[in-house]
Amino acid sequence: MKYKSTRGGCSDQSFEQVLLTGLAPDGGLYVPAELPQLSEQEIASWKDLNYSDLALKIIAPFIGDEIPEDALREIIESSYAEFDHPEVAPLSILAEGEYMLELYHGPTLAFKDFALQVLGRLLDYVLVKNDQRVVILGATSGDTGSAALEGCRHSERVDIFILHPHQRVSEVQRRQMTTVSGDNVFNLAVEGNFDDCQRIVKAAFADQSFLPEQSQLVAVNSINWARIMMQIVYYFSAALKLGAPQQAVSFSVPTGNFGDIYAGYLAKRMGLPIKQLVVATNSNDILYRFISGNEYSVTELNHTYSPSMDILVSSNFERYLFDLFDGDAEALTSFMEKLGSESLSVSEQKWQQLKTCFVSARVDDETTCETIAQVYADTGKLVDPHTAVGIRAARDCNADKATPMITLSTAHPAKFSEAIKAAGLAAPDLPPHLQDLFEKEEHYTVVPNRLDAVTAFVKSHSHN
Ligand SMILES: *Cc1c(COP(=O)(O)O)cnc(C)c1O
Repeated sequence: MKYKSTRGGCSDQSFEQVLLTGLAPDGGLYVPAELPQLSEQEIASWKDLNYSDLALKIIAPFIGDEIPEDALREIIESSYAEFDHPEVAPLSILAEGEYMLELYHGPTLAFKDFALQVLGRLLDYVLVKNDQRVVILGATSGDTGSAALEGCRHSERVDIFILHPHQRVSEVQRRQMTTVSGDNVFNLAVEGNFDDCQRIVKAAFADQSFLPEQSQLVAVNSINWARIMMQIVYYFSAALKLGAPQQAVSFSVPTGNFGDIYAGYLAKRMGLPIKQLVVATNSNDILYRFISGNEYSVTELNHTYSPSMDILVSSNFERYLFDLFDGDAEALTSFMEKLGSESLSVSEQKWQQLKTCFVSARVDDETTCETIAQVYADTGKLVDPHTAVGIRAARDCNADKATPMITLSTAHPAKFSEAIKAAGLAAPDLPPHLQDLFEKEEHYTVVPNRLDAVTAFVKSHSHN
């Protein structure tokens, strides 16, 4: 499989090249040059596969012959063996026609484990084969950091540096990162906010001359194609359980960087019968305003009870816009360059096209807490604030009660006890494997909010 950039300014790349990088050199994101198309019969024949076997079927075409099937199978099976539920992504029922896909059974309790467990092993495989080392550099507002550390720490050929905003992540989230030990694992607490961390990471990727020769930076956030690819699988898994391909289903997805829901959009384009995709946002609502009113403009950042969705501009939305613009990289580039300085819109025809696929609802903090309390009262299930945003948005958007609606439950409630308490409920216990989280020793370094401070640290601590 070949990959191309949404900005059209570089040659096609292999899966391996795309895996070992971040943004494309022209500033775009990589997308597959063509999407596998699946027939109804083929999808139907996957009904009885376990999660790992299904994952292998779905991702193999995206990798082609670059990794032999046996090696890929081993990578997938060992990744999902780390999950604490035999179904890996179990589906639970909230009410008639209303379901929740539990994506929090991985080692760090958020859906990011689905991709990052595999990403770490894919990197290891490719780096051993090439006798190469790389430096992973990422910024996190909480969940990506721990999932990346957990997924990549075993690799002897990576040094991993994760930046988080000092004193601005929850204690559980911080400890999940800082208690991971290993001499290739580094947590940097930047004296700034998440945007500062992200800016530093972006600048470091743009100029990698501080690294030793032969080394390069690899991204672990969802600009990395491998993350999107692994997330396509659970859309198929959930839909098959509810009778697809004969039965159509809809999904509601708590959305931040648009990675998770973009994977659902790809599943639909590959042939899975998905009726609606609900883009569920918190009060950081740029996508809600665009989908419901054709207005794409940046506002101020709000800090909410669902911090993993506190994002101003969703980076993966560019991948969808590339399709909406019929692959016209030039039109997309000029659209993206204007963002930030003006309020943008698309033609009426394109906007209608977008609305045949996506609907959106915005859920504020108060309604999030109300939903947590209501779901608990009705079902006895405790849901995390991101999931609550998804459930509420599904209820607000779903006029069509005949199609099952599946909300992606993106994190375990124990990760976000502040919102649970604000909903008037008792904070849940951490699962058994994290019960000693508060006793373990933490390792992190506080660094000033400056690019040169970070690059100097990376340079002096990487094992090249
Ligand atoms: C990362 C995250 C999201 C947002 O996912 P995107 O792919 O960025 O849209 C939602 N909920 C939780 C719990 C997350 O960790």
